[in-house]
Amino acid sequence: QAKELGRGEFRFFSDNMNKNSAARVRLESDLRRAVAEEGFVLHYQPKLDLETGRFSSMEALIRWPHADGMVSPADFIPLAEETTLIVPLGAWILRRACLDAVALGERLGQVPGVAINLSARQFRQSGLIDSVRTALEESAILPEKVELEITESMVMDDVEAAIDTMQALRALGVRLAIDDFGTGYSSLSYLKRFPVNTLKIDRTFIRDLTRDSEDAAIIQAVIALARALNLHVVAEGVETQGQLVFLGEHRCASVQGFLLARPGPIESMPALFSKGFT
Ligand code: C2E
Ligand code: MG
Ligand code: MG
Ligand code: MG
Repeated sequence: QAKELGRGEFRFFSDNMNKNSAARVRLESDLRRAVAEEGFVLHYQPKLDLETGRFSSMEALIRWPHADGMVSPADFIPLAEETTLIVPLGAWILRRACLDAVALGERLGQVPGVAINLSARQFRQSGLIDSVRTALEESAILPEKVELEITESMVMDDVEAAIDTMQALRALGVRLAIDDFGTGYSSLSYLKRFPVNTLKIDRTFIRDLTRDSEDAAIIQAVIALARALNLHVVAEGVETQGQLVFLGEHRCASVQGFLLARPGPIESMPALFSKGFT
C-alpha cells in the first residue's frame, strides 16, 4: 500500500507495512537486488556560504529508482538497517559521493565539500572506519573535503563508544556534522566532548521562524552557541526569502534548502556552483 507525497516524486510505504506483509517482503528482495546491482543514484543538494554568496559544498542524498516509483530514503534506509544491507550500501554511498565530488572538482577547478549522511547501524558497525578510508583512497579526495553527518540519537545510546568512533573518523582527516540538531537528546556537556565541526539546525526550527518568535530565538541561540564553540553552522530546509534574510542577519554561516536549490543529479551541479545564488 503506497501513497503519493510531495510532487509525486516519492511513494511512501505506509506504517502498516509490517514485517511480514507481502509488500515488505517484496521491497526487501528488491532492495537486496538493488544493493547487489548498485541500482541507486545519489542526488546532491548544495549548501550556500552566506559570506561569499557562493555554493561551496553539497550533501549527497540517496535515491532509489524503483518500479513503483522513487522510494524515499526515509522508507528504505530503515529497511536497509534492519537487514544489514546498509553496510554494503553505506560503503557504496561513501565511495560514489567522493568520486562524484572529485569529478565535479575537475570541472570546476576546485573540489567542493561533500557531506554524506551516515545511518545509525553504519555508525556503530566496526567496518565503518575501513569503508571511509577506502572511499578516501580510491577517490584520492582531500579528506577535509568530506563531512560525515550523524544525528544526536545515533550517538546517545553509547556515548563513549560514539566518541571513540568520532575520534577515529577525525583521525582520517574528515569533518563531522551533527544533522537535525536540536531534535535529539544530547546535552550541552556532550556537545563539548563531541569532536564535531558543524551543527546543522533542524528544519523544523527553520520552518516557522518568521512567524514563531520562539523558533527564531532558538535559532539565534544555536548560532551563538556554534560561534562560542567554534563550530560551523548550517540551516537546513530554507524555503523562503524571509528565512534567508533572517539567517543572513543573524550570521548563520551556510544555508541549504529548496529556496537555494532542490536536490538534483550531479550533472546539475556545475551550473549551480559556477553561478552561485542570485
Ligand atoms: P537529512 O540528512 O536531514 O536530509 C535533508 C532532507 O530534507 C532531504 O530529504 C532533502 O531532500 C530534504 N530537504 C532539503 N531541503 C528542503 C526544504 O527546503 N524543504 C523540505 N521540506 N525538505 C528539504 P531526503 O533526501 O528524502 O532524505 C531524508 C533523510 O533520509 C535524510 O535527512 C537522511 O536522514 C536520510 N538519507 C538521505 N540520503 C541518505 C544516505 O545517503 N545515507 C543515509 N544513511 N541516510 C540518508
Ligand atoms: Mg543530512
Ligand atoms: Mg538534516
Ligand atoms: Mg532532517
